[in-house]
Amino acid sequence: MARKNTLSKKQLDGLRQELLDERATLTNQVADLDAEADVNNWREGGFDDDPADAGSASFERETAQSLSNHARRLLSQIDDALRRMDAGAYGTCERCGNAIETARLEALPYATLCMDCKRRDETGR
Ligand SMILES: [Zn+2]
Repeated sequence: MARKNTLSKKQLDGLRQELLDERATLTNQVADLDAEADVNNWREGGFDDDPADAGSASFERETAQSLSNHARRLLSQIDDALRRMDAGAYGTCERCGNAIETARLEALPYATLCMDCKRRDETGR
């Protein structure tokens, strides 16, 4: 039988609040970045007689898009963590089924792997 996580209700509530705060921040970021990408798109179309402007607008748009994609990936990880919390499966390593260290969850509330599995992941084995 795998080790169960020993998070108290209070710890879980704290982590849930952190996830919800982070989620709200990221949702705003995504909206801002998508708006930025749109404006640059419009600008690029309107000023295509000036190649320098068009180039920098397209660079800015790509940056905004890649930041927005990154934020979206984090958002889906946060949603997963919240779902696991609702299902009572939060804090359990996806790979080995052991409890994820509390300190690790406090640093990264949407972590899905325990410290050992994460290390193995990073060394590629
Ligand atoms: Zn593990």
